[in-house]
Amino acid sequence: MTRNKNVKLLDENGRRSDGRLPDEMRPLKIEAGVLRNADGSAYVELGNNKVIAAVYGPREVTPRHEALSDRAILRCKYSMLPFSVAERKSPQPSRREIELSKVIREALTPAIFLNEYPRTTIDVFINILEADGGTRTASIIAAAVALADAGIAMRDLVAAIAVGKIGDILVLDINGLEDQHGDGDMPIAMMPKLGEVTLIQADGVFTPEEIERALSMVSKPIKRIYEEQVKALKSKYESIRQEVTESE
Ligand code: UDP
Repeated sequence: MTRNKNVKLLDENGRRSDGRLPDEMRPLKIEAGVLRNADGSAYVELGNNKVIAAVYGPREVTPRHEALSDRAILRCKYSMLPFSVAERKSPQPSRREIELSKVIREALTPAIFLNEYPRTTIDVFINILEADGGTRTASIIAAAVALADAGIAMRDLVAAIAVGKIGDILVLDINGLEDQHGDGDMPIAMMPKLGEVTLIQADGVFTPEEIERALSMVSKPIKRIYEEQVKALKSKYESIRQEVTESE
């Protein structure tokens, strides 16, 4: 990551390019059960990021030889739609999309009771409708809600947020501009109730002390994201309950 000193990421008052303070995250909106034809789904907006996740399964594995006798397999496919970024993205899966699919699958796996569903697959499809830095964290937030919406047995949800670096200052939830011109990006995913980290990546240079500070910096926002995830799931089931009672 090379810093372009001509791009001003922090002003004299310590405000960022979008007016946020270093420890402020972008507005978050989560909706559960947005797709009729998937077993579970969720829509997430994190700042300008717009992400949709759909879950199918547990269902029969094809090709069959991939099935595991003692647990389900989890498959994730992260795709950026061609219009999601400023420069049209080819619909062919890029190396980055393949990497992100793997990273997201690994961040979600510890939260799922895969051994409850032997010989099956749980498929998670994530589409980025609009991207502005932090699509992997928004994807993890959406996928966890979609998995819960599909009724899959889980130990916990998974919430995620990135910590970036501008000069020596750690900043929460970096946007696209900060990602492009900042000095570091550290996405962190956690099982919020269990307090366990399921993903930590780092692009740029972070000292051990900065890593510790980054982990404590995400503690509150992870709880906040978790509360929003639960609220989205509850509100979906509340609307179903209302429909049922009204039809009785
Ligand atoms: N991006 C882009 N074109 C691409 C890939 C990424 O414009 O082909 C932008 C997009 O805004 C993305 C950001 O670069 O959110 C940062 O990408 P990164 O690989 O760091 O992943 P993310 O932060 O989205 O998880």
